[in-house]
Amino acid sequence: MIGVSELCCFHRCEGVRFAVTEPIYRCPNCRGLLEVVHDVDALRETSAAEWKSRFQERAGAASKGPKALHSGVWDKREWVMPGLADEHIVSLGEGRSTLSWARQLGASMGVPELYVKQCGQSPTGSFKDLGMTVLVSVVKQAIAEGRPIRALACASTGDTSAALAAYGAQAGLPVVVLLPRGKISTAQLVQPLASGAKVLALDGDFDQCMRVVDELAEEGRVYLANSMNALRLEGQKSVAFELAEQLDWQIPDFIALPSGNLGNGYALYLGLRLMLELGVITRLPRLILAQAESANPLYRAFIDGAPTVTPIVAGPTLASAIRIGNPVSATRALKALAATNGLVEQASEQELCELAARADRTGLSVCPHTAVALAAVSKLARAGIIAPHHRVVVISTASALKFTEFKVRYHEGAIPEVRCEHANAPVPIPATATAVRAWLD
Ligand SMILES: *Cc1c(COP(=O)(O)O)cnc(C)c1O
Ligand SMILES: [Zn+2]
Repeated sequence: MIGVSELCCFHRCEGVRFAVTEPIYRCPNCRGLLEVVHDVDALRETSAAEWKSRFQERAGAASKGPKALHSGVWDKREWVMPGLADEHIVSLGEGRSTLSWARQLGASMGVPELYVKQCGQSPTGSFKDLGMTVLVSVVKQAIAEGRPIRALACASTGDTSAALAAYGAQAGLPVVVLLPRGKISTAQLVQPLASGAKVLALDGDFDQCMRVVDELAEEGRVYLANSMNALRLEGQKSVAFELAEQLDWQIPDFIALPSGNLGNGYALYLGLRLMLELGVITRLPRLILAQAESANPLYRAFIDGAPTVTPIVAGPTLASAIRIGNPVSATRALKALAATNGLVEQASEQELCELAARADRTGLSVCPHTAVALAAVSKLARAGIIAPHHRVVVISTASALKFTEFKVRYHEGAIPEVRCEHANAPVPIPATATAVRAWLD
């Protein structure tokens, strides 16, 4: 039996319950965030062993045939969005990413059991696809039920807009994205344009874009596709399911994640908590939320032991997708940290450049955000908090190929105030065998 999933108040205001297809993003009573609550008792009727074997069978069967659904998210649909009808699924083949043993890099930082979950191996090149497939699918169902949804909209630091534009295009729905002008990579700007979304480049930062789209969504003019919308988190949490399954359901000691708006830190916790409730895993890992030094409001709150996160104006960082000063999901993330005995660490531009280069040298190829999480792990290992016997998983959130400008500048030694020790610039040479031979000698 599968029960009903509903939207409830994060603070559990009494009587606040909505269908997941309702376009609502805040509790009408306390204005707090909402979250999807599943019927866990109904899910518990299936044993942990049955879940494991069911998912194993499904992943094998689902790969067969040219029109087969190839999705790590919908592989585990009962845990993600059980009430969704199959015909409304909008998928581009997300999830099922590799979990790589980062043997060389881990050894170099004193963490021999270091793994990288390669979420950049996704249709639009970032882990945002995992949540977007769920949101757009539920919207399709909502429209089929007769709800008046005209357009999907989001503010973005580049990856959310790419995912929304692609899934919206697949579903045939109009998409509007609000981007901070000049603050995202060329690849990220091209993605929504190519998918046919309306792209508005605002003269401001992400936090300002977020404020605008929030207001338009409140007026009911657009359907909000940011992670403030709890539906996104239900898909994002499948990262936890996948990595647990890949580790044969043995949960690691730490999971590190680059963090900006903080929805994903909470989503990870939601996935872990559900598996614990279902007896599929037996303990929780400690979460490590990693921030860029210039966009570190959660880190500041953590160091100060503050009960809330005070917004800041985020400064520039090469990790542009986490350049956020006023994280929408701050209260959610604080809850995830408390429940997992979690940690917050930060990385400077020098530290993230160093770790990106070192990771790349081992063949990994990482984006600047993943480098922030790797730097956090390296610092915690140096501080003795992560010990050599600990198993650590770093969530690699995007493809390095979305951030070629960053790599080019690093290897040209052209990043201000950063020592580019591993720079490897091309060697200009005449087009003759003699010249190349001389150089080789
Ligand atoms: C969105 C994003 C993050 C951070 O996720 P939040 O939920 O905003 O904390 C990290 N890395 C990349 C590449 C992202 O696109
Ligand atoms: Zn409430």
